[in-house]
Amino acid sequence: MRILDFFKRNPSNREAGSGPEPCCLCDHPLSGGIVLDSWGQRAHSGHTIRFCGSCDRILSKKTSAGAYRYSDGRYVCGFCKKLAVTDGVTANRSRRRVQELLEGKGFSGIPKNIEVALSHAQSLSAHSRQSNTAGLTLSHYHFNDYKRVGISHQIGILFGLPKVEFEAVLAHELLHVWQHENGVKFSPVYSEGLCELGGYLVYSEDSSELSRHFLDKMFKSKDPIYGNGFRIMQKKLERSGWPALIAEILRNKQGLEVSVLRKIFPKK
Ligand SMILES: [Zn+2]
Ligand SMILES: [Zn+2]
Ligand SMILES: [Zn+2]
Repeated sequence: MRILDFFKRNPSNREAGSGPEPCCLCDHPLSGGIVLDSWGQRAHSGHTIRFCGSCDRILSKKTSAGAYRYSDGRYVCGFCKKLAVTDGVTANRSRRRVQELLEGKGFSGIPKNIEVALSHAQSLSAHSRQSNTAGLTLSHYHFNDYKRVGISHQIGILFGLPKVEFEAVLAHELLHVWQHENGVKFSPVYSEGLCELGGYLVYSEDSSELSRHFLDKMFKSKDPIYGNGFRIMQKKLERSGWPALIAEILRNKQGLEVSVLRKIFPKK
């Protein structure tokens, strides 16, 4: 059995004769206000309900294999905790795997020696414009005689994410590195949208229910930058495939808006 088989959706229609569905927290029959998670688990709305910070399931002793609290205050279910990336060796192995995956699609030139630090939520948020960030890339440009002589990158990712989420966040951050290295200067919606394609790639390569959950979330995200950006770029990818998409990006480093305008106002 693969470990990810834990991530099974509960059937929402119980067989006839099995009685009303019990609350996943107190085991009593459900009635009145009910909270439903995206895995089909239900609980009375009167309970203090917490959700797993990764898979969003209701945390319960009975149905989420317990609940854990990380030292930075995040809650995680027992299933996600089992898959958590918590050490540098595992993180490094994932970095190599993700980098190979991206290079296989044509994202070449990402430096091989980037340090990935497993971080607390607070230390990531302190350096980020976003409050609930799971990953962060800091890129430093080095100059000599007013000429750019190099860039160095540092990536920080929340510790304790389940491996597939860790790798998706890492793919997102490595595509920021790729943009920096290639002089791609997009507006946030295109830049983050492109990075989200990295996460999309990781989840698409994985057949687990957990990956399907994350993919579903990306397609439904209401975030104007991350959600919209992802859907714009995903449509482009669907139409043209990775090689043509990467070529289009490199032809229009100053912004994909330019290529759209060129289509509307073609040069005579
Ligand atoms: Zn209950
Ligand atoms: Zn979970
Ligand atoms: Zn980003």
